[in-house]
Formats: sequence, structure tokens, C-alpha cells
Amino acid sequence: TRNAILVRYGANIPYTMVKVDIKYTKLFINNEWVDSVSKKTFPTINPQDESVITKVAEGDKVDIDKAVEAAVKAFHRYSEWRLLDASQRGLLLLKLADLMERDAKYLGELETLDNGKPVAQAIGEAQWSATIIRYYAGKADKILGNTIPADGEVLTMTLKEPVGVCGQILPWNYPIPMFVWKIAPALAAGCTLVIKPAEQTPLTALAMAALIKEAGFPAGVVNVVPGYGPTAGAALTSHPKVDKIAFTGSTEVGRIIMKGASDVNLKRVTLELGGKSPLVVFNDADVDKAADIAHRACFANAGQCCAAGTRTFVQSGIYDKFVAKAAEIAKKRTVGNPWEKVDQGPQIDADMFNKVLGYINAGKKEGAKCIVGGARMGTKGFFIQPTVFADVKDNMKIAREEIFGPVQSILKFETFDEVIDRANDSNYGLAAGVITNDVTTALAFMRHIRAGSVWVNTYEVVTAQTPFGGFRESGIGREMGEDGILQYLENKTVSLSLPKKPRL
Ligand code: NAD
Repeated sequence: TRNAILVRYGANIPYTMVKVDIKYTKLFINNEWVDSVSKKTFPTINPQDESVITKVAEGDKVDIDKAVEAAVKAFHRYSEWRLLDASQRGLLLLKLADLMERDAKYLGELETLDNGKPVAQAIGEAQWSATIIRYYAGKADKILGNTIPADGEVLTMTLKEPVGVCGQILPWNYPIPMFVWKIAPALAAGCTLVIKPAEQTPLTALAMAALIKEAGFPAGVVNVVPGYGPTAGAALTSHPKVDKIAFTGSTEVGRIIMKGASDVNLKRVTLELGGKSPLVVFNDADVDKAADIAHRACFANAGQCCAAGTRTFVQSGIYDKFVAKAAEIAKKRTVGNPWEKVDQGPQIDADMFNKVLGYINAGKKEGAKCIVGGARMGTKGFFIQPTVFADVKDNMKIAREEIFGPVQSILKFETFDEVIDRANDSNYGLAAGVITNDVTTALAFMRHIRAGSVWVNTYEVVTAQTPFGGFRESGIGREMGEDGILQYLENKTVSLSLPKKPRL
């Protein structure tokens, strides 16, 4: 049946899998590989066939304590790390980027095994991540403060200093890029880190830890502790010696993190959370191009993308034509074996698979028109058909809640002001897109939409240089670009007595 499914979706290939050598399954603390104190392990599952790939050491509170202790030591004022010149931190990051590029194929294959994303995409993500490390490597020795003309006989300046020991909690949807988005600005700034990867995808984080050691980072600067959220994640969030928590994941857990981070001390917090981003197509758009952009905006990474354009608003003049084109493109989407040339692999795990199917059923029940897909594929693995709903209404669950799967909701609108009001009527505000050939429409849209990223006649342009993050419940703070490193720096204001004349 698996082959039958693959044939139906155009990927006529047998079930094959590359043998990936799994080298690291222990905790990485103080540049050493160690078992968890409890000796407990947890399985990581292959989403393609639901088999156990391997077992990984399961970190808990005591292991987090050990990792934080190592990070605190590595942040001591006389530590090797703290005494490095800023440019040497940059050189270590450049070395890490080179190693990532050397191992991009291996990292990508390991990701496909653990996450299920198509292997070409996974390798591409590893290569792209190396460019982000290089961007922040270049920033390490360009962290500048200000001089401030103050009143009286004083000279005032600001020093930018590393925040300190940072806890970083990662999601499973882009494990390698998310690891890099977190570590690169933090290391450029001079912080030390304890990272908890998502329990669904611990393997590439551990492989990255090995490269960090190989690059020559001193012991304790980066520690990686796989484990579950309510145990290891919560212990890191509320640890008294952690100065900052950076988190990417669901808004629901984001709220828990904010609370935990203010339990025993008051941590700096950056959050990259969920979204329900609108993509608005106006009557003057080229329908074929617009449908193509909208398709990719929604279905990239099997829809497991926080910035996914999941509410496709289409103006009434081109609505019918657009819906037909969207259906045609979705039907052509190839889904199946991620080791072959396909557009889409399985969803990450049984929970997300069931959640997405639940939303599809809710869409049908609430009266949206399911014009493509609408069911699982096969009987094994977490594969879901690309699904398109037309005639979606604003109050339906599929128009309000984040689905995080391959489901497009198409909604009709008449006027500019109507669609701005409807697009902004969301608790989220991560991203938005507009497709139009009228520059005034594009500019007015850009001005009035409430979202952290706005894309005009394109979607999901995210680079090392571009700040990314959300308005409202989509998060706090920004990653990437100049903003990204500022989130790992404290401002120290220093005033010196500056006499007008020498005393002698
Ligand atoms: P999740 O929030 O369940 O888990 C994310 C991470 O938080 C995991 O490492 C998990 O172990 C940890 N965690 C869970 N409970 C915790 C707790 N009580 N204390 C501390 N840590 C805890 O989300 P997910 O299932 O990994 O990802 C899906 C969600 O993440 C989606 O809603 C998506 O929008 C969002 N996401 C956002 C971005 C972004 O950049 N804004 C990127 C990726 C994913």
C-alpha cells in the first residue's frame, strides 16, 4: 500500500532508506558525553514508519543542574571563554560553520531519519544554517556601545556585555536551523549555554554538540541535555543560576516558560511562538503565480512551520479561478518516502498527526468545503494528504487555530479594509503576506497589518540578516539580524568623572 500511495502522489519509488550512523546518544555536558544520572533513556521515533530509531539519555533536573554548573564555570570572569578576544569567538564560530558544511550531508540524513523531512531539504537546512553561523561570527567583534554626552563633568558610555548563562529550549520542526538560530548570536555575544532539544528530534543537536567540541569551544560553553519539557525543560526554565531563557515552540508552553522564568529569579525571556498568518491575494494578482506562492507558504515543511500562511484570503473577483488553481497545485504535491525526491514527508509524531486530522475533521463538520485531500495516507507512518478547504469562514476552528499540518484554508473577501480587519483579528501576529501589482495596496497593507514579518509578492523570506519574531501571542523579542544578538547582551552604563581642567 505504501508504494500504491507513492504512485498516486507521483513519487513512484520503492521504500528505501539510507543507513545513517548514529554516533551520539548521551548528554553533552562540559565537553563530555555522559549518561543521565538516573541512567534513564527515551526512544526517538522514525515518523516514516513509527519504528524506534535509538534510545537517548534522558536528562532531568539533576542533569540540568550539572549542565548549568558547567555553564556557570565556563562564564567565570577568568575562564578561558571569558578571556578570549571577541575576534577569537568569531573564529571559533567560523570553524564551526566550516565543520557544518563538511558534514551537511550527514546532518541532513540524520535529520531525515529523526524528523522525516525530505532529505534534500534537510541537507539544505544544514547548509543554510552554516551561513547563519558565519553572519554572527562576523558580529562577534563588532558589538559596539555608545558614548553619551551627559550633563556635568562626566563622560558616559555604554558597554554591551553577555547576558550570562542562557537556557535554550528548541522545537522539532527545524531542528538544525533552530539550534543555530539560538547558539550563534548567543556565542557571538559571549554567553554560555544549556540547550534542551525537542524530545522528538534530539539526534542532530547531539551531532552539532560534537562539532562544537571539534571546533575547539572550551568545556562548558555549550551543553546539550535531551529530555522532556515538563522535566528537563521546566528545570532549566526555573533554574536560579540561569540568566536568560530563549524558547521556540507553542504559545501554550510559551506561557508556562514565562511563568517558570520568573519563579526564583527574573530571567530575560525571548519567545518564538505560534501563528495563524494571513496571505492576502488581491484581484489584480496573476492567479497562477499567486496560487503557487500561497501553496508554498502553507505547505512548506509539511505545514509544520510557525510562519506558514495558513489563512489564504482571496478577493472575490478571482476567487473561483484561484480555488481551482490551488486545488490543481495541491493535487500535484508529492508525498511519501523522504529519502526520495518528494515535496513532503510524514508529520513529526502520532500526537501532531492526530491533532492535524482532528482539525481536518472539524473543518468538514463546520461546513468548509474540502476540495483536496482530507485524510491520512496509508496505514503506517504519519503521512497526511495535502488538504485544501475552500469557503472557510472566520469563526471556524481551521481559520482561528494553528493546525501545524498540510492544510490550507481559503477565505473570500471583498474590500481592503474588510480583509485588514479580518486578517488582524487573531491572537497571533507572526507573519503576513500580500500579493498585488498595485504598489499603494502593498504599502497600505504593510502599514496596517499587525505582524512581525510582512512579505510582498513573495513569502517566508528569512535570512541571517532579517529579524524574525512575532507581535502579540506569537512571541517576545526577535531572532536573527542585529536584533538577534542584542537579545543576548546586557547594557552597562558607565559614567566617569571628566574634569574640565587638569587639577595640577
Ligand atoms: P512545544 O511547545 O510542545 O515544545 C517545544 C519545546 O518546549 C520542546 O523542547 C519541549 O520539550 C519543550 N517544553 C514542553 N513543555 C515544557 C515545559 N513545561 N517547560 C519547559 N519546556 C517545555 O511545541 P512543539 O510541539 O515543539 O512545536 C510546535 C509549536 O511550536 C507550534 O505551535 C509552532 O507554531 C511553534 N513554533 C514556533 C516557531 C517560531 O519561530 N515562532 C518555530 C517553530 C515552532
